[in-house]
This record gives sequence, structure tokens and C-alpha cells, in this order.
Amino acid sequence: MTQPAALPPGSTIGMLGAGQLGRMTALAAARLGYRVHVFAPDAADSPCAQVCAASTVAGWDDRAALAAFAAAVDVVTLEWENIPVPTVAFLDERVPVRPGAGVLAVTQDRVAEKSFANRLGIGTAPWRAATGADDVARAMAEIGPRCILKSNRLGYDGKGQAVLGPDSDPAAAWAAVGGVESIVEGFVDFACEVSVIVARRPDGAMRPFPVVENRHKNGILDRTTAPAGVPPATAAEAQRVACALAEALGVEGLLAVEMFVTPGGGVLVNEMAPRPHNSGHWTMDACATCQFEQLVRAVCNLPLGSVDIIAPAEMENLIGDDVLRWPEILAESGARLHLYGKTEARPGRKMGHVNRLRPAHR
Ligand code: AMP
Repeated sequence: MTQPAALPPGSTIGMLGAGQLGRMTALAAARLGYRVHVFAPDAADSPCAQVCAASTVAGWDDRAALAAFAAAVDVVTLEWENIPVPTVAFLDERVPVRPGAGVLAVTQDRVAEKSFANRLGIGTAPWRAATGADDVARAMAEIGPRCILKSNRLGYDGKGQAVLGPDSDPAAAWAAVGGVESIVEGFVDFACEVSVIVARRPDGAMRPFPVVENRHKNGILDRTTAPAGVPPATAAEAQRVACALAEALGVEGLLAVEMFVTPGGGVLVNEMAPRPHNSGHWTMDACATCQFEQLVRAVCNLPLGSVDIIAPAEMENLIGDDVLRWPEILAESGARLHLYGKTEARPGRKMGHVNRLRPAHR
């Protein structure tokens, strides 16, 4: 099989999705001399379009717009894993899409994702698929009443989830997640949460970033610490698991894998996303290559960059009104502020982040 050639600087990368992950990818791409063309229904004045060479505002099912977009770009990547699979398949007939439709089909669906991991012998929380309140009741009986009910699709940042206990009513929980196909997961009493982002090129070359530790507030990532304070064997296992999943899925681009560390030091996969990830934002200031540049390198089939840590670091998300603290963050020595160009600071909305190298409390 002939290997795809490297796509040289000056080429145009198509970006599906117009949020902050696309924005930071476009900035990294521009630094390497690439142009980015964003396509999304909500692209107009989006965080991504603000920094792109071109933008298309059209629906995911607008075939004429998709065909024109495919003709205008040299490769396509994405910053949101819920792009409809038929959209990606349509584009992929015209221009390489990295990662491809097969990867999205697995990572868009929690049951498919967990089945995939388990088939590889990779551990997850115990789980059952649920298509009704009866399934929820049966799952609670089988895996214990302390569970989390999550909608299979389109859940993120703790949305579409209900925590269940011995007194929970399965029917009420089913209604609370919207009465859609769901998964019931046993509650994991984890020691900590970690993640690994791995880059994989079309020719199969792979490089994982260091393991980081994540703390959540109200179901949303609050802080990431790099590197994670876990034993070396746990870190090595987390990287092994992320690479095994990226390889088996045939990811071209990035795969972010969120995991629970058990009290015994093992890891259980929670979620994966085939795109840049919030827990990788620390790499912008504290790693030899940032995750966004690594994505550009991977999808353009360039040499993958070094993942050496420059300094231990902490990333703090700025959610909603946190962004109003920008003047004090700018006045803080060594703090590196990244804002996403969003005008409205709604509660729960990711507005920016700040990276601190060698944070004082460590
Ligand atoms: P998710 O949307 O699956 O990433 O879940 C958001 C957050 O909820 C995770 O980062 C955990 O903090 C928590 N969580 C999710 N699933 C479980 C579980 N099975 N056991 C314990 N905590 C969980």
C-alpha cells in the first residue's frame, strides 16, 4: 500500500465545527503556514471563524455546500465528534477526512465505545445498555444501585446524566435523561481521573502526550495538572490503553481518552474523543509541541512533534463569569491567558483558560 504523502505548508485544512478547539487548531496551523477553512452551521463570527482564512456557514446535510467545501480544501479534520456520520462519509468520497467516519461511529455512542474497549480487553465501569425504564431497573439490580444513567449520544460536560442510588426511581431517571437510548454505568469510586491524548498519523506512527490529572466541578472540567501525580506503572498503563484504542480504531489525528484510576492503581476507560481535548490545553505553554500543532502534523502526515514537558503546569478553565477575572490574570506573573472570543458569558460556557507553569501550590 502506498503511504499518503505529506501535505506541505500552504495547503488548506478543512475544519468541521467552529468552537474553541477549531480556533486553537487554526492558530497552530497558521503558525506552520497552513490555511484553515471552517465549515459549521454556526460558523458565523464563531471562535474558529474569527481566526480562519475562510468559512462556510451551512447545515451538515447541505450537499452542495459540502461539495464546494471539499473542493476548496486538501484534507478535513474536526473539532466535534458529533458531526453526522453521513456528512463525513460524503466528504470522504472527495477529500481525506481524518479521523474518518468509522472512528466517529464508535465515539459518538457510549455503548459502542464501551463495547469496543471491552472487546480489546480494556476495562470500563460495569455497564448495561438501556432502552427503557425497565432496563434501568434491571441494570440497577445487576450492577448495584449506585449507578450513573447517561444518554448514549450527544452528552457532554455531565449533560444528559442522572446519578442513581438505592432510593432512585428508574422511571424518573429515565425521564430525566430525556427518555432516549442510554447506558447505565456502575459508579466508580476512583482515586483520581486522568486522560491521555495520543496523536496518530495515516501511516500508523503514534505518540502519546504525558498523562494528566483532571478535576471536575459540576460535571465540567475545572483543572488539569500536568504531569499526573500517579505511579509510573499507572501512567504507563494509561498511555498503553490510549495507544491500543487509537491503533484499533485506526485514528488519523488525535484521540483523547479519559480514564478513572482505581484505588489499586489500575485504569478504567470512561470516554474517548477523536479530537483535541480540554485536558490538553496545558500543552500550549508547557509542552514542546501543543496538541493543536500535533493534530495539524498528524492530519498532514508530517513528523510528529516532541511531547517533552517544559515545566509542570496547571490549566484552569474559565467558565461563564470566571472570564471577568481577565484583568487580574493578565497582571499575574507567568500566567498565560487564552480567551476564545465568545461575547456572551453564559453559565457553564467555556470562555477561556489560563495555564500556569510550575504553580506555587505544587
Ligand atoms: P462523562 O460525561 O462521562 O465524562 O462524565 C462526567 C464526569 O462525571 C466524569 O469526569 C466523572 O467525574 C463523573 N463520572 C462519570 N461516569 C462516572 C462513573 N461511572 N463513576 C463515577 N463518576 C463518574
